[in-house]
Amino acid sequence: MRIDLHSHSTASDGTDPPAEVMRRARTAGLDVIALTDHDTLAGHDEARRALPPGLTLVPGIELSCRLGGHSVHLLAYHVDPAQAELAEELHAMTTDRLRRAREMVGKLRELGVDITWEQVAAIAGGAVVGRPHLARAMVAAGAIGSPEQAFTADWIGAGGRAYVDRYGLDPERAIRLVSSAGGVSVLAHPGSPQRGWVIGDEAVERLARAGLGGLEVAHPDHDEAERLRLARLAGALGLAVSGGSDDHGLLTGHRLGCETIAPGEYERLMSLAARA
Ligand SMILES: [Zn+2]
Ligand SMILES: [Zn+2]
Repeated sequence: MRIDLHSHSTASDGTDPPAEVMRRARTAGLDVIALTDHDTLAGHDEARRALPPGLTLVPGIELSCRLGGHSVHLLAYHVDPAQAELAEELHAMTTDRLRRAREMVGKLRELGVDITWEQVAAIAGGAVVGRPHLARAMVAAGAIGSPEQAFTADWIGAGGRAYVDRYGLDPERAIRLVSSAGGVSVLAHPGSPQRGWVIGDEAVERLARAGLGGLEVAHPDHDEAERLRLARLAGALGLAVSGGSDDHGLLTGHRLGCETIAPGEYERLMSLAARA
């Protein structure tokens, strides 16, 4: 069994629609794929309808959290979309993403980049607006040559001239919300400085006490030393050893299935989700 528990579609900042992600998952030889768009469950219906025979979809989400001023991502699987408190939080996060994107457009305009909010919204389509959409508008305006160039201190990289912080959930609260919505949570890329920061053992211990189900050990950003540290930590804290490709389509290069989770760990993780 080949299982990839981390992927993105056009419902957030991936470049392929959910149906295409499902098709690619099967082509990549996967038996199980989790769709984990940022702060939205919107891609699941399309993914379900397009599910090729032999492929199992794990409905997921990647929640934006903040811990001590740092960005932390929490993967959650099998949450009940009707759970009121979680639905309210997701709504608040979407509203805040809009505010943030508008503010970044304003800052970019002050820096002489000729883009408008309408252009960015059109690029995002129905997706949750994020920095990749701004980056594409910047390319279209000729301010930069390729989207990656936007993610620097000059522009909208973390702490950059046109960067604006956004609201994030407290991760301990997020873990409790996920549990009360019948789901199970996994700390995403805990050892990736590119995607936030390297989370120390003590912080992970606190999250484990709050009900965290697993650690994402296998992630493309993790080197061997980091995988070793995280696998040991997962063992010591009784957490499942999880993993996934974090595929964003063209944005990361098509890489579904490049990281997988062991079937036993997958079963253990799913047994923690009441709704699985
Ligand atoms: Zn992430
Ligand atoms: Zn991700």
